[in-house]
Amino acid sequence: MTDSEFRLVQMARAIGRYRGQSETGTAIPEITAGPAALAEPGEIYGGEIEMGNDTVSHQGDCLVSLLASSSRGNAAYIRCGHTHLLIDAGISCRRIEKGLRRFGAELSDLDAVFITHEHTDHVSGLPVLLKRTHVPVYTTAETWRAMGPKVAAYQNCFVQLPRRLSVGEVQVVPFATSHDAARSVGYSVYHEGCKITLATDLGIITPSVMAAAAWSDILILEANHDEELLRHGPYPYALQQRILGPQGHLSNTTAAQFLAQLPRRSLTKVLLAHRSEHNNTPAITVHTMRRVLADCGVVIGQDVLLRLASASGSVHFQSGGNVL
Ligand SMILES: [Zn+2]
Ligand SMILES: [Zn+2]
Repeated sequence: MTDSEFRLVQMARAIGRYRGQSETGTAIPEITAGPAALAEPGEIYGGEIEMGNDTVSHQGDCLVSLLASSSRGNAAYIRCGHTHLLIDAGISCRRIEKGLRRFGAELSDLDAVFITHEHTDHVSGLPVLLKRTHVPVYTTAETWRAMGPKVAAYQNCFVQLPRRLSVGEVQVVPFATSHDAARSVGYSVYHEGCKITLATDLGIITPSVMAAAAWSDILILEANHDEELLRHGPYPYALQQRILGPQGHLSNTTAAQFLAQLPRRSLTKVLLAHRSEHNNTPAITVHTMRRVLADCGVVIGQDVLLRLASASGSVHFQSGGNVL
């Protein structure tokens, strides 16, 4: 283990302790993390925590849009240069199409779809999407199998994830995540010195997640629930334990603690994603982020720029200079 790998392991363990959980007993598939850092970040722009459906920022020539992100449905559109990617298809194909059109793209423009795992909130729109357009679908063999008959007719679209791959003008590197799915992953996307990472559905922060998220220009990070709201909310005890467990979801507090410790560029743009509709609110997410990051000396708007994903509309970052 190199020094930097050792440091990442220590940091991940520290976050696990902060949350009162251990890493032991969690099976992590052996998909390695990608290169830790590329070129210097692009232009920095101001702002603090923002919400809404029309926030856009630029860096290089990359755009990241969460077409939808919540426990009900997830789909992220990433455009780098002339390459169009979709990560997850957990909303209807019609909504995906509508989301793409906001950016002047059509379903037929998609170069590839990447799937993180087989849960419905990540794949419900995939069969219709594949019926409409025969786009390659990259995921693990276990995930494809777990989707079962829903995608059986589209076997020729399936591409088993390699350790890294090129699609058009981007490189994509998957990394293992700890979640109660067949073999879940997150993704880092690289394009001309810009690194974009999607890390949601995380039970715990593992060294591979830490390594993948480090030095990202744009980070899509899960801030799923407030632990107190969850414990006193409507979910049955077993489901609460599943969400809180090492293969469940990341709380606001753990996400904030993770951000505070993450090796970062001078201004990391973070989209806080996969917010629970029953066990979280935008106000609580913002409050927790402010409190934990301030305690750790991280200045929002200077060290990190945060935006909250929306369950129903798109929220997006675009790398580079202009704010649309
Ligand atoms: Zn899931
Ligand atoms: Zn999910």
